[in-house]
Amino acid sequence: MQTLRASKCGLSISLLPPSILDIIDSLTKAGYDAYIVGGGVRDLILGENPKDFDAVTNATPAQIKQVFGRRCRIIGRRFELAHVHSGREMIEVATFRAPPKKAVTSVTGMVLRDNNWGTIEQDFARRDFSINTLYYQPRKGVVLDFCDAYKDIKSKKLRLLGDAKQRFDEDPVRMLRTLRFAAKLNFNIDQAILDIWNVECAAQLREVSPHRLYDESQKMFSMGKLEKLLPMLIQFNIWKQVLADVKPEITPLIQRAAQNTDQRIAQGKSINSAFFYAVLLWQPYLERIEFYRSKGVIEAEARAQAGIDVLKRQATCTIIPRFAETFIREVWEMQIRLISPKPQHIVQLANHARFRAGFDFLLLREQSGDQSTQGMGQWWESFQELGNDQKEKAIADYRRQQQKNRRKVPDEQNEAFVPLVLETQVNTRAARRAKQKNEARAQKSNQQKTVANAVEQTSGVTSDHPILKRRRVQRDLSHVVFGPTQ
Ligand code: ATP
Ligand code: MG
Repeated sequence: MQTLRASKCGLSISLLPPSILDIIDSLTKAGYDAYIVGGGVRDLILGENPKDFDAVTNATPAQIKQVFGRRCRIIGRRFELAHVHSGREMIEVATFRAPPKKAVTSVTGMVLRDNNWGTIEQDFARRDFSINTLYYQPRKGVVLDFCDAYKDIKSKKLRLLGDAKQRFDEDPVRMLRTLRFAAKLNFNIDQAILDIWNVECAAQLREVSPHRLYDESQKMFSMGKLEKLLPMLIQFNIWKQVLADVKPEITPLIQRAAQNTDQRIAQGKSINSAFFYAVLLWQPYLERIEFYRSKGVIEAEARAQAGIDVLKRQATCTIIPRFAETFIREVWEMQIRLISPKPQHIVQLANHARFRAGFDFLLLREQSGDQSTQGMGQWWESFQELGNDQKEKAIADYRRQQQKNRRKVPDEQNEAFVPLVLETQVNTRAARRAKQKNEARAQKSNQQKTVANAVEQTSGVTSDHPILKRRRVQRDLSHVVFGPTQ
């Protein structure tokens, strides 16, 4: 172990927010050892702005709770951790970990329960990449380096501690972390990792909880390097493990959205990572709508059912939280409304809570060459910049244009042009309406049957599929449509 001078590594207290110093100081004052560890130290050395700071200590979670009282909450089962609030920030405080005493692992060697406290040396050995193992004590101005980690950071090398295969078997999520760090930091993946990485290795991700995979996918999608990451997900066979029904192909829409997201993050703007999921799942959604259409299901029903199906299928890989699922479906549903709005609804639509996201999505589609938006992305973009009077005029123009378009359609029922309504015509119309109503009723009930049949036909999942072990998915399995990727 080497003790490095913090200043020599480019680290100083002035680079740290008060929250992490508060945590380190409180633990030290209570007689415990406390360090900043992980990504925060790594990123500061690289001159980057750390996303957050993690602390590590020899105090157990119960002792941490004693130090911080109501500011502290203990979380986690597999890894028990303390979340400590300091001002408006929340800092994750972990206890030094030893190797698991009784191996609580799955058949493939994945660690399931892991709460044995240990020494700093043991804690170091449990970490994933060398670059994430520097322990920084800011008040003493020292950095503990157990494995030439500082050298690896400087030479941009992404190296796993220990045997790469064993480390991936223990925790397949480390594969996602490899790609995330390689893309984010522009580091080179160590040859020992490349040597063992193959399709079977990547397939171990099926064993990981879809909740955890969702969290990891969020981190990947919101780190500002999507353009670099997406091809890597394909190249390293990870795409199919994370995205149930999305073809491993970067479509113009995905490419455009990736660029846009990266740019927003670089400019310090906020992003909603469910938005990127809406982009990724757009193609499967369209295909599923087409499937229901071909079965004769009416438009609105086809869209609603397609949205449900696609998200349920995606839940076999990553479980998107309910609120994010709702967001995604609303963004999709907004598309049709924005492409052919009723003139009297335009103002209301522009004030809708999902307008912004729906509009951004529409514009991305249009900019990536999707002509089915009929230029409405541009239309809405201009519309938003108008003053109130101009808006009224724009709506009137739009209404006129719509009427013109409608007139162009040779429509025998274009009743606006019937100058006189005769009694017989009224009766005929009433009869026609009644007939239409009956037909619609019959069609609806047929459609319900069609949807149920379609779902039934395409399901069928083998009993050994890991998804059967998951409670939430198990409950909803009747609706999940399993395709060839399973
Ligand atoms: P960032 O926060 O910038 O995404 P990070 O390295 O801080 O990167 P975290 O997920 O915050 O990543 O984890 C904090 C530290 O915990 C890591 O630096 C690493 O040392 C350790 N760690 C996290 N996940 C794992 C894992 N799956 N296996 C081993 N060690 C891990
Ligand atoms: Mg971190």
